[in-house]
Amino acid sequence: MTSTDADCIFCKIVAGEVPADVLGRADHAVAIQDLNPQAPFHALVIPFDHHENAAASAAADPAVLGHLVSLADEVARAAGNDDYRLIANTGAGAGQTVFHTHLHVLAGTSRMTEALV
Ligand code: AMP
Ligand code: ZN
Repeated sequence: MTSTDADCIFCKIVAGEVPADVLGRADHAVAIQDLNPQAPFHALVIPFDHHENAAASAAADPAVLGHLVSLADEVARAAGNDDYRLIANTGAGAGQTVFHTHLHVLAGTSRMTEALV
């Protein structure tokens, strides 16, 4: 059973109701360009199913995070980025603003060092 939230911007993107710059698709997820990029390459990988964060998606379907990571790798490499960073903000205190699971895929800057914050 799929879950959606009528007020969720990412559910609307998944449904095609809000336009997005699509970088790739898989059976269970779509990858789009982030509207406000924080790096030269900044994609979002969004599962079709609405859950509020990565842990909730994993609890609903343990395979889903694997699908997200595979699609993230595909779109990063397709854009020439073999090295990239994945981020899944969880909770407003960690910077989450859209409460539909997504992976940030960041690449293309020398500013990404071993320091994470
Ligand atoms: P987070 O802060 O981890 O919840 O990330 C939400 C991300 O979604 C931010 O980087 C926003 O720039 C991005 N975002 C919000 N609305 C859209 C949209 N309509 N299309 C593409 N990216 C979006
Ligand atoms: Zn949603």
